[in-house]
Amino acid sequence: MDYYSASLSRLINELAKLPGIGNKTAQRLAMHLLKVSKEESSALAHAIIEAKDKIRYCSICFNIADEDPCHICTDQKRDRSILCAVQEAKDIIAIEKTRDYKGLYHVLQGAISPMDGIGPNDVRIKELIIRLQKEDVKELILATNPTIEGEATAMYISKLVKPSGIRVTRIAHGLPVGGDLEYADEVTLAKSIEGRHEI
Ligand SMILES: [Zn+2]
Repeated sequence: MDYYSASLSRLINELAKLPGIGNKTAQRLAMHLLKVSKEESSALAHAIIEAKDKIRYCSICFNIADEDPCHICTDQKRDRSILCAVQEAKDIIAIEKTRDYKGLYHVLQGAISPMDGIGPNDVRIKELIIRLQKEDVKELILATNPTIEGEATAMYISKLVKPSGIRVTRIAHGLPVGGDLEYADEVTLAKSIEGRHEI
């Protein structure tokens, strides 16, 4: 039985699809949106539409950006000899917040996970290898998550890249195992980049 009107049900259903939003939270958010002014709810709706319309992936590093190439790839002040590979664009934000890292990035857009049917060709490893061949990179930091998938991805890339002579490092542990980079506090993350080791 549906307790809500059709349009309210639809709103709750859409909100409940968002990550980390259960049915209860979706109901609360929907009720909140009904209470706020029309301008406020329209601003949210438009922000979603505009973001989907305007935001694209950087064709060099696959970061989420308004422009292509992204502001990091075009920043001439950054150290172009270091490349940091991360699983998701949100990990760049986490590392940028540490203010310690001044190199470039490469977003893999996932991690190898045979259990989920995700192989090396399903993440941006091929693009990373091509970049390493074209650009003058001296060190590749593998900052994938400290999970089974993240470790497997780091090992896979390391084996591919090492023969080229590029220094391949893995961020240090101290990050919670099984955790996501984005949830690590800035100090822990800065320390783990500082304490990276060769693999
Ligand atoms: Zn970029």
